[in-house]
Amino acid sequence: MANERHFVCLEDALKAMPALQQCWMALQRLPRIAESEIIRHGQWKRTPTSGTLYCSVCDKIPESQIETPHCPECGAKLTPSEAHYG
Ligand SMILES: [Zn+2]
Repeated sequence: MANERHFVCLEDALKAMPALQQCWMALQRLPRIAESEIIRHGQWKRTPTSGTLYCSVCDKIPESQIETPHCPECGAKLTPSEAHYG
């Protein structure tokens, strides 16, 4: 009788496994979601010589040369190049 009960318990435990695995996977996913939502902040910069617009985060030059709210290359949130007064 004791052995039979043990077997039932083991079976229940195995049945519960997929649910436990789902919980574990959900927990594992949480930090990754948070990580992907971290927004980098930078500023549009202009080269002193030609005044070419570039991103301070990735140093890439956008083809449009327009100061968009976000860098089209790396997706960083960028403030306009003229918006700093020390
Ligand atoms: Zn960038």
